[in-house]
Amino acid sequence: MNIKLFNTMSRKLEDFKPLVPGKVGFYSCGPTVYHYTHIGNLRSFVLADLLKRMFIENGYDVYNVMNITDVGHLTSDDDDSGEDKMEKGAARENKSVWDVAKFYTDEFLRDSADLNLLEPSARPRATEYIKEQIDLVQKLVDLGYTYEIPGDGIYYDTSKFAAYGALTGGATSGIRAGARVEFNEAKRNPTDFALWKFSPTDKKRQMEWDSPWGVGFPGWHIECSAMSMALLGPHFDIHTGGVDLSRIHHANEIAQSEPITGAPWVKHWVHSEFLVDKSGDKMSKSSGEFLTLSVLKNRGYDPMAYRYMLLMGHYQSQLAFSWEGLAAAANGYKNMVRRVSEILSDAAPGVLDRAAFDSWHQKILGAVSDNLKTAEALVAVQELLKTPAVNAATKQELVQFIDRLLGLRLTESAKELVARENIDIPDEIKALADERTAAKATRDWARADEIRAQIDAAGWSVVDTKDGVKIIKKA
Ligand code: AMP
Ligand code: ZN
Repeated sequence: MNIKLFNTMSRKLEDFKPLVPGKVGFYSCGPTVYHYTHIGNLRSFVLADLLKRMFIENGYDVYNVMNITDVGHLTSDDDDSGEDKMEKGAARENKSVWDVAKFYTDEFLRDSADLNLLEPSARPRATEYIKEQIDLVQKLVDLGYTYEIPGDGIYYDTSKFAAYGALTGGATSGIRAGARVEFNEAKRNPTDFALWKFSPTDKKRQMEWDSPWGVGFPGWHIECSAMSMALLGPHFDIHTGGVDLSRIHHANEIAQSEPITGAPWVKHWVHSEFLVDKSGDKMSKSSGEFLTLSVLKNRGYDPMAYRYMLLMGHYQSQLAFSWEGLAAAANGYKNMVRRVSEILSDAAPGVLDRAAFDSWHQKILGAVSDNLKTAEALVAVQELLKTPAVNAATKQELVQFIDRLLGLRLTESAKELVARENIDIPDEIKALADERTAAKATRDWARADEIRAQIDAAGWSVVDTKDGVKIIKKA
């Protein structure tokens, strides 16, 4: 099937052509583990997961890498200065940097599993690739792309790289003006960035290594160049990340890599837009005000409801988070699961209708392969689940494919629902449900709501379906 992806570099929707036929390699910038991963960060990781699933369903042999940043990310993304985020996290929590990294990495991995994100083929940590980073810096030093700021570090001279900033049309002039911290006057150009930072002389850092230039630690950007090249080779197909990374982090990755690998280093750049709040502000870790998947779970939401909410949008558009929006998504998801449970329980499913299977498979995979139009795919799924024209056996087979492609765990959730539906309902709950039906018949809505709350408090829920009232044990 033809795969189309928007390429940030060309600013065009392009037909995807792999470097090696039948294979795809991609790298995704992962989390910086100095704090919880928030649901905005998770949006960028769902994009990576969808890409992987889409390629697998298109028959590709996929190798994808997502790093974990556990060193080198400074508090100002704008001009690569300020404090080290990891050391700051350690001071905040009175723990060692290594413990902070481990704690938030584990939290992130749990969120990833809850959101049904496929394991990447490799998940390197920046601290495991220090040698590769030093080697890369050495190559850039040898090629004349660097200079030293005494007492500070080895910097990349962006004026030496003619194509600097091409990913965002060269729009990097605002970096100095936009910087939140004092500008480093010793830099030759505002866009120059640190490849290696020296440890301070007056205090000992928790993470530091020897290098040909002195004891210190790598800059943030070099890790992604080093780890991607180490695991994917000097050229690979796709690089992903959140849209905020394109202007600086990815511009710097390209500047570090192309003098060594030749251009283009990466063929396709895919960026996901922000998750924002109602007033349009980006959810951000550094502000400290953000929502985690655990908060959503504690409020009773299945992580699949959040995944469904993301899939109802498009990765290139901002998505405003609201609790009402999440509740609507949760309902949409539950309805889908209910339909799937009916299909699974069909007593006369028939036999697989190959033509119907192929046509729906084509329609759904076609939407996702067309620049990840997941909302379009979900509308098609809803149509499929509803239509009487396709038998249950064919739908069951299609739902398995949809689960592989969209990762919504429809079959699993539907099976759980069926199991809960088959739990014996206590007589008193049945009596309450009958009483509620009677109250509704006399239009006594207040009483009906009161009884629903009673049933709810007892751990059951009443659902009005087209086949009448159902009583289900709550998950
Ligand atoms: P970090 O953990 O800060 O290194 O960020 C991990 C990923 O999350 C990066 O690809 C960011 O671009 C992305 N990201 C950060 N904030 C948001 C947000 N509010 N919405 C979507 N993606 C985000
Ligand atoms: Zn990165």
